[in-house]
Formats: sequence, structure tokens, C-alpha cells
Amino acid sequence: MLLKGKTALVTGSTSGIGLGIALSLARQGANIVLNGFGDIETPKAQVAALGVRVGYHGADMSKAADIEAMMAYVDAEFGGCGILVNNAGIQHVAPVESFPTERWDAIIAINLSSAFHTTRLALPGMQARGWGRILNIASVHGLVASAQKSAYVAAKHGLVGFTKAVALETATSPVTVNAICPGWVLTPLVQKQVDARAAADGVDNEEAKRRLLMEKQPSLQFTTPEQLGELAVFLCSDAASNVRGQSWALDGGWTAQ
Ligand code: NAD
Repeated sequence: MLLKGKTALVTGSTSGIGLGIALSLARQGANIVLNGFGDIETPKAQVAALGVRVGYHGADMSKAADIEAMMAYVDAEFGGCGILVNNAGIQHVAPVESFPTERWDAIIAINLSSAFHTTRLALPGMQARGWGRILNIASVHGLVASAQKSAYVAAKHGLVGFTKAVALETATSPVTVNAICPGWVLTPLVQKQVDARAAADGVDNEEAKRRLLMEKQPSLQFTTPEQLGELAVFLCSDAASNVRGQSWALDGGWTAQ
């Protein structure tokens, strides 16, 4: 119970990676504030079953005013958060010349600017209480690019840069700031890309998954939300107190190529 008594706010945690990280932190005793859309009751029950306190705020992470309301809720109901996991994210795949401007704006807002807003609002409380961990869920696309993902790649490279800048600003403090860079993880965000691949190539779901992995991920295995959750637990531990400003890939060899 490494994190007993701490509170973790995980944005975009109603499914996928965010939920996996929330569950791993809860297994270590952290109270959890969930955020995101869709079915709220199932993830709330999954976290509560681990014996920790669970809250929820429905802030739309593309809206600064919503984020301010969420951070005020965390302060009022949980006495602030010691662990902030900036995870909410969306994807859109299209060539740059036909990339919808509304999708560009949404990706930059949700995948990048939201981390600025949560961080600026959470950091003073972490410093005052003398402990904090900020984990930014970037991507291999924060380190390398893929075609047709200009907004996502720009946002994730931006998030990696933001991680480094804030890590330097907090370097002598008890707050650490790091990024995690997953390769392919089979979540709803990636299943959409598997479906598109299956339709484009005229193949079934399993073959489409194999082709996606073959292209980029040498291990030919998806990274799992549980593995990412365990990395998050490590980065919250005392052993990681001098890991600062890093962008830690868990990508089956993707960025080693
Ligand atoms: P997902 O679609 O399963 O989950 C996204 C979560 O974000 C959901 O809870 C959703 O409700 C929430 N969300 C979306 N828009 C929101 C908004 N405007 N406000 C609040 N919440 C919002 O996706 P995922 O694959 O679990 O992705 C989570 C993060 O991991 C993203 O930042 C993504 O870029 C990153 N990532 C994913 C992969 C992958 O292969 N799946 C790889 C690298 C990085």
C-alpha cells in the first residue's frame, strides 16, 4: 500500500489506459478522482471495489473553465491531489491538407493544453503539502512521428516538451514531473484504427491488428493498461524521486528502430 492516503486525479479515466492507471494506483491505496465520458458507474464500482474512496468530475478537458471547476472539486472534496495523471486524449487520422480545423483545435486542447491547466492549478497545492507526482501520458508520437497524425504528433511532442520544462521548474522540490510514452495499446482509441485498417485492406479484425503491430511495434504485442499502471506506480514511488523530466517509452521496441 505504497500510496495509502494520497489522492490521484486521472483525466480521461472512464476507459482504456486512464482506467488501467487508476486501478493500479487504487491497488496501492490511493483515493481516485475519475474523469471522462461514457459509462461512469462501471469504472467507479471497479475502483471502489479496491477499498479506496472514489470521486468523479465530468469536466470537458477541452474547456479551461471546466478544468478549473474540476480542480476546485478535488480541493474541496479530497484536500487536493498529490498525483495528477494527465491522460485524456483523442485521435484523428487524415492528411494535413484535409485535416479538419475543428479536429486540430480539439486535439491540441485535449491532448496538450489541458495538461497546462491541470498542472498550473495542482502544483501550488503539491508544493504546499510537500509531495507530488505529475505523470503526462504522452505517446511514442511524442518522440517520433507517423503520417496522417499531424495534430496528435504535434500535441504529444508538445506534451513531452512541457514535461521537461515543468520538471526543470520543480527540480529542487518534492514534486516530480515525467511522461509515459506508450506504443500501441488495444483501447477504444486504437480499435477505431484497427477497424479502419480492416475496412481499407479487406481483412478481419485479427489480421488488421497483426498488420498494425507489424508496421511499428517489433514485439508484435500490444502494451497493456496494466503494464502502464505499474509503471505509473513506480514513478510515484520513493525509488523514482529523482526521475525528472523523462519520457519513458513502453512500446515493444517501436522507438528503438
Ligand atoms: P480511450 O479512448 O480508451 O480513453 C480516452 C479517455 O479520455 C476516455 O475516458 C474518454 O472519455 C476521455 N476523454 C476524451 N475526450 C475527453 C474530453 N474532452 N474531456 C474529458 N475526457 C475526455 O483512449 P486511450 O487509448 O486509453 O488513450 C488514453 C491516452 O493514452 C491518450 O492521451 C492517448 O493519446 C494515449 N495513448 C494511447 C495509445 C494507444 O495505443 N491506445 C498509445 C499512446 C498514447
